[in-house]
Formats: sequence, C-alpha cells, structure tokens
Amino acid sequence: MIKHDVVVIGGGLAGMRAAVEAAERGADVAIVSKMHPVRSHSGAAQGGINAALGNTAEDTPANHAFDTAKGSDYLGDQDAIEAMCDDAPRQIIWLEHRGCIFSRLPDGRLAQRPFGGAGSPRTCYSADVTGLVILHTLWEQLERFNVKVYEEYFCTALCTEDSVGAGVVAYNMRNGQLELITAKATIFATGGCGRMYAKTTNGYASTADGLGIAFRGGVPIMDMEFVQFHPTSLKENGVLLSEAARGEGAHLLNSLGERFMFKYAPEKGELASRDVVSRAGWTEIMQGRGVDGCVLLDLRHLGREKILERLPQIRELALDATGKDAIDTPIPILPGMHYTMGGIETDKFGATRIPGIYAAGEAACVSVHGANRLGGNSLLETIVFGARAAKHACEYIKESGDVRPSERTLKAEQERIDGWLSKNEGIRAPQLRSQMNKTMSENVFIFRNEKELTKAVDDLLEIRKAFDRDVYVMDKSKTFNTDLVHAMEVDFLIDAAMCVANGALARKESRGAQARTDYPERDDEKWMVHTLAWRQDGQNPRLDYSRKVTITKWAPTVRSY
Ligand SMILES: Cc1cc2nc3c(=O)[nH]c(=O)nc-3n(C[C@H](O)[C@H](O)[C@H](O)COP(=O)(O)OP(=O)(O)OC[C@H]3O[C@@H](n4cnc5c(N)ncnc54)[C@H](O)[C@@H]3O)c2cc1C
Repeated sequence: MIKHDVVVIGGGLAGMRAAVEAAERGADVAIVSKMHPVRSHSGAAQGGINAALGNTAEDTPANHAFDTAKGSDYLGDQDAIEAMCDDAPRQIIWLEHRGCIFSRLPDGRLAQRPFGGAGSPRTCYSADVTGLVILHTLWEQLERFNVKVYEEYFCTALCTEDSVGAGVVAYNMRNGQLELITAKATIFATGGCGRMYAKTTNGYASTADGLGIAFRGGVPIMDMEFVQFHPTSLKENGVLLSEAARGEGAHLLNSLGERFMFKYAPEKGELASRDVVSRAGWTEIMQGRGVDGCVLLDLRHLGREKILERLPQIRELALDATGKDAIDTPIPILPGMHYTMGGIETDKFGATRIPGIYAAGEAACVSVHGANRLGGNSLLETIVFGARAAKHACEYIKESGDVRPSERTLKAEQERIDGWLSKNEGIRAPQLRSQMNKTMSENVFIFRNEKELTKAVDDLLEIRKAFDRDVYVMDKSKTFNTDLVHAMEVDFLIDAAMCVANGALARKESRGAQARTDYPERDDEKWMVHTLAWRQDGQNPRLDYSRKVTITKWAPTVRSY
C-alpha cells in the first residue's frame, strides 16, 4: 500500500501547481499520473494565460471578471470568477519568479496580446507554446521539492471510508498490479474529455477519467452540456490553430473573400467570444459560403516576420497537416470540439461535497467558465485553482485524522478488471467508442435540437448497457496492457458523454455553447441554475437543479460583441 497525506491525480498544469503548493506548505504530497507529467495535454496550450496586468492598456481584475462573467453568458459563479481574476496577477508573477519565460515588451515588462471576448489585451504568452513553457517551469519546481511521482499509474476508483475521502485505487501499467493509494486528501486534476467526440483538439489522454471516477464515487458532475467548439481547428486532423492567430490580427474569410465575422459581431469581429465565432463559421459553411467544408484563416497580412516570431508553431502545424504555408496562403479551418466547461462539482476552494476530495483544472467545474470559456482563462484556472485546492487540502489534513485503507474498493476494482480479462468474447471497447463518437459528433454538436439530442441520449444508454454487459479485453498481458487501459477510458468517457447529452436535452434554452434551434433564446427566469448530474448504475444520470448561479455584481443582460 502506498500512503501520503495529499495525493494529486494528474500531472498537468493543475496537478503540478497543486503539488508544488502542497510541497511549499510542507505537506507529504505525491502525484499519480497515467503518463509523464510533461506529456500532459496542458503542454499543447498555445495562446496564453490571462491576468489583468495592464501592461499594454489600462486593465483591472474587475474588468477581467466582468468579461469572464459576460463570456460565461452569466452562468459562471461570480464569487469564483472574482477570486480567479483577483489572484491572476499574483500567480503570473509567482510563475515568473520561478523562471517561466514569458514573451516581453521592448521595455522588459511581460507582453500581453488581445484574445476573444476580452476588453483589453490581457493574455500573457510565450510565443505560441505557452502551456509547454509553464509545464516545464512547474516540473522544475517538482524536482526542486523532490515530489514523488507515480508515473504510468492509471487511477481507476475513488476510495471513501466513513464518508470521507481515503485515496484511490490505481493500476500500475508497468506490471499490471492494482494498488491502494491511501491519502487524507485527494485532488483530481485529470484534465478534459475531448475524446468523447470523433474529432477534437484534445490529446489522446483526455478521456474523462477523473470525471468518471468521481461520478462513480458519489460526487455530482456539473454543467456538462456546455462543450466548447473552438472556431479554428484543422479539417485534416482536428488539431488546433490557437486564438493567438486572431489575437495577433488574423482574419476569417468565407468563399466570397468576405470577413464574415462582422455580420455576427459588429464590434469585435474575429475577437468575439468562441461560441459566437464557432456558430458564425458553421453558419457560413452550412449556408454554402464555405471552401471545401471549411472557412479560411488568413494570416498573410501579418507578414513573415511577425508570424515567425509570434506564431511559429501555428504555421508549422498548418504546414504539416495541409502542406499550406500560412505566410502566403489562407488555411482552411472549421469548428472543433475543444473544451468542457463542466466537470466535477467543486466550491470556490476546489472542494467537492465529500470531505477530503478536491478537483482542479479542466476536470473540475468551479464554475468560472459558465456556459462559455474565454480563451486564456483555462490555463489561469489550472494555476489559480490548483494552488487553492492544495491550500485547502493542506488545511484540511491538519484537522482530519488518519483514514482507513480502502481494501474493499481495491477488491471490487480487481473483480471488475478480472471480469473483463476472463471473457474471451463479446464487444471490444473501441467498437463502443466509435459508436459514442459518432452519435456525439452527429447529434450533440454546435447547433442542437430535441430530436437529435433524444437520439444521442438513447444511443448512449444502449452503449452504456452494451459496455456493462458485453465488454471484454482481448490482451491478457500484465505489462503495458493498453487494451485494458483503453477499456477503462472508454468506460469513463461513456459516463461523461451521457452527462453532456442528458444535460443538453433537458436544458430548454440557448446559452453560451448550448445553442438549441428549438429554444433559441436564453431563459434567465428558469435557467439561471447549474445542471448537477448524479450517477445511476446502467441508467441515465439523475439531473438536479438545486444549485443556483451566484451573482455578485453583474446581473444578466443582453450579451453582444
Ligand atoms: C490544443 C490546446 C490548446 C489550448 N490552448 C490554451 C491556451 O492557449 N490558453 C488556455 O487558457 N487554455 C488552453 N487550452 C486549454 C488548457 O490547455 C487545458 O484546459 C488545461 O491545460 C488542462 O490542464 P489540466 O491540468 O486540467 O489537465 P491536463 O493537462 O490534461 O492533464 C491531465 C493529467 O491527468 C493525468 N490523468 C488523467 N487521467 C488519469 C488517470 N486515470 N490516472 C492517472 N492520471 C491521469 C494525465 O496523465 C495528465 O497528467 C488548450 C487546450 C488544447 C487542447
């Protein structure tokens, strides 16, 4: 049995920031991660991280909070939003003091670029490889504090004893052993769930594990119907071309060569918020003004020098996938699944309803993004709430006693896995994954309606039942059994997809990323509430609307850009 006071599941930005905070506070902390931390999806983040430093134009945390609340289509909890925006400048300086190499202005202060939905340029960046640079900074800090990392350990279940969190069960991928990891406080920082869709900007490891684990452990999952489709992903492979391109001045064009965004967002144009830009691009394509099923991202007027200095990775990604050089050719792009605003329900300190269980980063729903996240706010969320969750976990463990090791959960998990391994026929998980991907991509996309959402809900319930009844793992080996690990991932993804589809069907309004063609208006009378989904074995989740949105300063008004 492995034992620590604080265990962080996930080695992305949220997980590493949490671990460093706990280590700085003197806690006995470890990270459990299914891959090496610096390979986490956070490393793919390109555009930047928001903080109202006011280095290139007047700005304040209050302005940042207002933009975020408006961007969330007023579904974000404003107390959490204010906490995040107030802490942002301090956290950027914290990173900077630990050696994070941000791009700079000629006078030496940190550079900031404009991003969608923001009133002033407040996105700090490291060219267009921001996530990678911050990730390596935090990795150095882990090394500095000698934080123990259990790498290639796949967490499978949450342990609770006497109604408090008692750690997790994890599968050691190197030798096929299940191990009990006992902890007084557990922080889930397992990232997103893009892989529930056929095409996504997310990495292969973004498979909703933490969500599925918490959900099964009795924690509700919140606001999952709000899935962000990023306006500019590559048709060829779904890879993202960051909003930094538009931040630096790139245009979006239709087949007529028109900068179509001004029809949809007269003031902000290309720099409207993502839900608005994605709907606009998709509408152009649907109405026959696309180019081979895409619209075009045009960087040509920025000039070679600026592209090479500020957006080198974007140029390279496009060149690799399309053979087109953005310096002299517009790049075909279309909206792609990018981010889940929803996640494991927490309060503004990262605590869930189960004492000793926390969540942070994309896996969590705090909620700071509400119905639509602003670019640059997700990296910020990982840093701010990674640190906050660890701070609270460290305070919690001072008062909590020792927890009982959860042999019960270990045994149940062993039986679950043995069940799949003992069968020699049935359905393999990738088959069900393809069915889930298909129904999500066809029926729970940018524009939604009752008929398609009902189809998705029905399909997913069938997929859930087929998985529970028939799934088997063909590879019986103990060493790096990726067949088995993938089955566990698909299991969690199905749960997450069911929360998305059920939440979207039940929410009869359009708000942020949820655009219902049959309910095109936002309904503040009825729907200023969060969607909480509770797991029911083999059935659709039970939905509960008891959590109201917290408003501090900004009552909902018409949202335009
Ligand atoms: C291509 C791309 C570009 C982006 N650009 C930006 C940007 O410019 N600005 C911005 O603000 N946001 C951006 N985002 C969003 C942002 O990067 C992510 O939301 C954020 O980095 C998520 O960090 P995280 O720490 O929560 O999760 P991740 O970085 O995804 O890390 C998850 C960790 O959990 C571990 N894990 C998962 N499941 C298990 C398990 N079962 N057992 C053990 N370990 C597990 C993984 O090993 C990994 O270490 C971008 C996202 C993408 C996909």
